[in-house]
Amino acid sequence: MKTLLLNSAEKAADFLLKGEVVAIPTETVYGLAADALNENAVKKIFEAKDRPSDNPLIVHIADFEEIYNFTQNLPKEVEVLAKKFWPGPLTIIVKKNNIIPDIVTAGLDSVAIRMPDLNITRDLIKLLNRPLAAPSANLSGRPSPTSYKHVLNDLDEKIPAILMGPDCTVGVESTVIDLTSNPICLLRPGKITAEEISNVINKKVYVDKSVDHLISDLKDVKSPGVKYKHYSPKTRVILVKTDKNKFAKFINSKPECVAMAFNEDAEFIKNPNFISYGSENSQTQQLSRLFDALRKIDSYNKKLAYVRISEDKEKLNLAVFNRLLRAAAFNVIDLN
Ligand code: AMP
Ligand code: MG
Repeated sequence: MKTLLLNSAEKAADFLLKGEVVAIPTETVYGLAADALNENAVKKIFEAKDRPSDNPLIVHIADFEEIYNFTQNLPKEVEVLAKKFWPGPLTIIVKKNNIIPDIVTAGLDSVAIRMPDLNITRDLIKLLNRPLAAPSANLSGRPSPTSYKHVLNDLDEKIPAILMGPDCTVGVESTVIDLTSNPICLLRPGKITAEEISNVINKKVYVDKSVDHLISDLKDVKSPGVKYKHYSPKTRVILVKTDKNKFAKFINSKPECVAMAFNEDAEFIKNPNFISYGSENSQTQQLSRLFDALRKIDSYNKKLAYVRISEDKEKLNLAVFNRLLRAAAFNVIDLN
């Protein structure tokens, strides 16, 4: 099947109403969308991505009131959080009702909901008058796509269409918090931090251990996505916790490897295979460049890539660290 590039919400709606999948832009990463209320359509998402069927999808809405159609027993925090962060990169997990098909939530009795902050995407949802189920539009396990070209690289000829939009401004997937647990729990870090959420709801937000630790016992996994290999280039990745001088010394003796670090490292690095993922002093820039940088690693055709992470706790963004840990299968060297 030829994958068409679409330039209007109306054309994308035509495909979605027929029960097809379409890749859509959002501010976080590109998503692979289907009508969330059409079981057969949702099935096609899992097939195209080769996604394990026990990994639930996020349901995207365009107006806050839609949330009442698909959920029950909403805690009071939902309205407060939506008012502050929606539309935006925050996904909340709440109790579902039986309008949402089981395939969307992988049989769980909770559902993940978000309102994306991109007009064309909300226009599309409004045109359909139905919620969109959408995980990231990458092949399962690969780095998430932050441009429509990334989606084409992964899913060309596997999906009928891509709605073209701008490159993603946030660049990593949404923050996921579970409002059904007590205490409220952050399952996936994103641009919006646990501290920001905690300040808005006036409650402590517990950060799930899996965010920055390898969970060896699968029964301790709270978010099914955590079980799977994630965000990986084909090249093996190892993280190196150190400063720019020590990293340069380390990597300059390894010209056969890829070196990924910050803009500030560039002048010290003699290794020809250098990739920057933004300034060490701008976490926003690191988030927006991270997945493109991880995708570039493979273009060097090397066996190994070393990625520098900041040894300064203040500069090490939890969402960046979380994605890099998974890309590196939790392999970290500390040079200090
Ligand atoms: P993706 O959109 O591909 O980034 O995947 C959505 C993420 O949200 C995955 O990590 C899922 O495991 C997680 N998720 C979705 N729904 C639920 C739920 N009901 N309970 C826990 N985690 C969920
Ligand atoms: Mg994903």
